[in-house]
Amino acid sequence: GNEDLDTVTVPLPSTSASRSEYRWGDTTSYAAKKKLQFWFLLPNGNWELGKILSTSGTESIISLPNDEVLKVKTENLVPANPDILDGVDDLMQLSYLNEPSVLYNLQHRYKQDMIYTKAGPVLVAINPFKKVPLYGNEYIEAYKRKSIESPHVYAITDTAIREMIRDEVNQSIIISGESGAGKTETAKIAMQYLAALGGGSGIEYEILKTNPILEAFGNAKTLRNDNSSRFGKLIEIHFSETGKISGAKIQTFLLEKSRVVQCTEGERSYHIFYQLCAGAPPILREMLNLKSASEYKYLSQSSCYSIMGVNDAEQFRVVVEALDVVHISKDDQQSVFAMLAAVLWLGNISFTVIDNENHVEPLEDEGLFNVAKLIECDVGDLKQALSIRKMRVGNDNIVQKLKLSQAIDTRDALAKSIYACLFEWLVEQINKSLAVGKRRTGRSISILDIYGFESFDRNSFEQFCINYANERLQQHFNRHLFKLEQEEYIKDGIDWAKVEFEDNQDCLTLFEKKPLGLLSLLDEESTFPNGTDLTFANKLKQHLNSNSCFRGEREKAFTVSHYAGEVTYDTTGFLEKNRDLLHLDSIQLLSSCSCHLPQIFASNMLAQSEKPVVGPLYKSGGADSQKLSVATKFKGQLFQLMQRLESTTPHFIRCVKPNNLQSPRLYEQGLVLQQLRCCGVLEVVRISRSGFPTRMSHQKFAKRYGFLLSDNVASQDPLSVSVAILHQFGILPEMYQVGYTKLFFRPGQIGVLEDTRNRTL
Ligand code: ADP
Ligand code: MG
Repeated sequence: GNEDLDTVTVPLPSTSASRSEYRWGDTTSYAAKKKLQFWFLLPNGNWELGKILSTSGTESIISLPNDEVLKVKTENLVPANPDILDGVDDLMQLSYLNEPSVLYNLQHRYKQDMIYTKAGPVLVAINPFKKVPLYGNEYIEAYKRKSIESPHVYAITDTAIREMIRDEVNQSIIISGESGAGKTETAKIAMQYLAALGGGSGIEYEILKTNPILEAFGNAKTLRNDNSSRFGKLIEIHFSETGKISGAKIQTFLLEKSRVVQCTEGERSYHIFYQLCAGAPPILREMLNLKSASEYKYLSQSSCYSIMGVNDAEQFRVVVEALDVVHISKDDQQSVFAMLAAVLWLGNISFTVIDNENHVEPLEDEGLFNVAKLIECDVGDLKQALSIRKMRVGNDNIVQKLKLSQAIDTRDALAKSIYACLFEWLVEQINKSLAVGKRRTGRSISILDIYGFESFDRNSFEQFCINYANERLQQHFNRHLFKLEQEEYIKDGIDWAKVEFEDNQDCLTLFEKKPLGLLSLLDEESTFPNGTDLTFANKLKQHLNSNSCFRGEREKAFTVSHYAGEVTYDTTGFLEKNRDLLHLDSIQLLSSCSCHLPQIFASNMLAQSEKPVVGPLYKSGGADSQKLSVATKFKGQLFQLMQRLESTTPHFIRCVKPNNLQSPRLYEQGLVLQQLRCCGVLEVVRISRSGFPTRMSHQKFAKRYGFLLSDNVASQDPLSVSVAILHQFGILPEMYQVGYTKLFFRPGQIGVLEDTRNRTL
C-alpha cells in the first residue's frame, strides 16, 4: 500500500546514465505520492517517461504514457523535471540535471527547430540537416539590438565582440564536434555575424569568400558528411580601433593528403577536381586536356562522381569568382588548374615491366605526356623520376630501379605532394590578400573549426593525430571551465565547494612524454632504416604497457584511453605516413619545371625545414630531404595553437549530430548522449550552476557602474562604491560574492546593470 512509502530510502542510482545526478535524495517515495514523473531506461536504450504508482524500495510500479504498467528496479529510475521546465533554453535551469532530462530537453527544442541550447557557458548546436529559419539580416539585427534572447551562434559571437571591446582581450570561438555535426556551417554563421557587425571596409566580403575556396580544395564527400572538411582551420579576424574588420589570417592543420590518390567506395576526392572537370570553360579544357571525372583513375576508383543536390559545374564558377575576389590573378588561377589537371593525369600513368627482374617504367602514353606538358618538364626527366631512385651509400652514388609497387608509390607521393603544396600555397596567397594593414590594433576574434574526436572500426594514423589534437583541446576546455574557475575562487577567498572533473593529463602525457611517449617512439622508429609498423607496435608495448591509458593489442594494434572513450589503432602505414617522404629525384624534378611549381614548392620546402630536424635525418630510407615528421610538425602546430588560444577569452560551441543518416527530424538518443558525454556537457552545467561565472574587479565595477548611483557614497574606495551599486540595484546577496579583488556573480546578474548603463550612455 501507499502508507509505508515515506520510510523508503532510495538507493543512489548506479546506472552510468545518472552518474551526473547529484540531488537525488529519497525522491521516489515523494514522487509516488505526488505522481511525479520519472525516466525509465527501456531495453532498447531509450528513456521513457513514467509515473510511479507505488514503490517498495528496490522495486517500483510505474505507468508509461501508453498506459502500460511495469514493475521495475527503483535504481533504474531517474527523476524527471516538471512540465513547466520543458524546453528551457539553458540546461542550467533544470531542477534535475541528469542525462535523460538533458536529452529530453534538447529533443523537445529540436522538434521545434530550436537547435541551439545553452549548457551554462557552452552553446550546444544540434544539426537540423535542413534549412531552419534562424538566420539572415533580420536575425542579425535582432541579436545586435538584443531584442532576441534565445541561444544562438549570433548571440555567442555578439558576446565575443562585446567582450573584445569591453575587456580589450582577444577572443576565440572554439567549435568542436564529430564529423558532420555542423562545425563548418556554424563557423560560417559566426563569420556572417562578424562581417555584418564589423563590416564596412569591404574586406569582410573577401573573408567570407575564402569559405568556398577552402571548401573546394579541402572538403570532400565522405560517408558521414557530403561536405566534410579534411583539414583543421583557425581563422583570426582582426579589428581596428573603431571595431571594423581590418583583415584576417588563416591557418590550416593537417590536410588529409591520402584522399588525393585513394578514397573509399562511395566517397569522393576533393570537390575541386570534380568542379574543374564539370565546369571548366572550353578554352581551359583544351589547354589542360581535360576529360570528364570518370576518365581519371584517381576519381573513378570510388565510383562516386556527384553529390545529391550539388552542381559541380556551377560550383566551379563560384570558386573562380571567389578566387577573383581574394585577388588570385588569372595567371595564378590558370597555374592552379594546370596543377590540378597534372595531379589527375599522374593517376593515369601506368607502368610496364622492362626486364626479367620486374623493374618497371612509365608507359609513354597520354598520361605521361600530359603531366610533362602541364608541369612543364622534360618527358625524359619525368619518366626517370618515376622509374629510378638515386641514393648515396657511403661515398657512392647508387641508382636503384623501381619495381611496380615502388613506382606507384613514387607516382602517388608526387601527386599528393603537388596537391598539398598547392593547398598551402593557396592559403598563403589568401593570407596575403587579407593581410592586416598597418592600422592594426591587435584585437582579434579567432574561430577554430577543427575535426572532432574520431573512433571507427579501423583507426589509423589520421585518427591518431586527430584524437591527439582533441585531447589538447579538451584540456584547454577543462582548464578554462573547471580548473581556472576553481583556482580563481580559491585565490579570491570565495567559499566554493569543489567540483570534481575528469582530467586528461595522463593521456596527454602518454602522447607527449620524452623519450618514452607515443609521439617520440613513433619518430624514433620512423628514423630507423629497418623500422616497420610491427617493430613500432612492439616498442610501444615494451615501453608503455605500464601506462594506465595504454594497452597493447594483438599484432600491430594498440589501444588508448581517450577522454572520450577507448580507441584501438592499427599501426599499419603509421611509419610511412609519419615520414611522408618525397624522394630526392621527385624534388629535383619539381624544382626543374618551368611552371609555377618550383615557386609553390620552394616556399613549402623552406617552411618545412625552418626548424632543426628532431632526431636523425631521414636519410637512410633512401630519401635525402631534411624535414620534420608529420607528427612532430603537427605537434608543433598544436602547441602554437594552444598558446594562441591561451591568450584569448574562449567561447565554446559544441556541435552535435542527431543521427548518422544526415536526415532531418531523426533524433537518436543514444548517439546524442554519447556526444554529450564526450564533451562533458553535463559537468559544465553542474559546475556553472554552482558557481559565479561573471566576475569583475572592484575597480572596474565601480568605474563602469559608479555613475549610475543616485546618492553620493561616503567613501570613494572601489569596494564601497561597488557595494552601494549592488544595493541600489537590489542584487540579492545569494547572487554574488565579494572576493578580495573581485566581485563574483551568478549567471545573468549583471544584465540589469549593463542595460541601465547602455540606456544612460
Ligand atoms: P562538420 O564541419 O562538423 O563536419 P558541416 O558543418 O559540414 O559538419 O555540416 C554537415 C551538413 O549538415 C551541412 O552540409 C549541412 O547540410 C548540415 N548543417 C549543418 N549545420 C546546419 C545548420 N545550422 N542549418 C542547416 N543545415 C546544417
Ligand atoms: Mg567541417
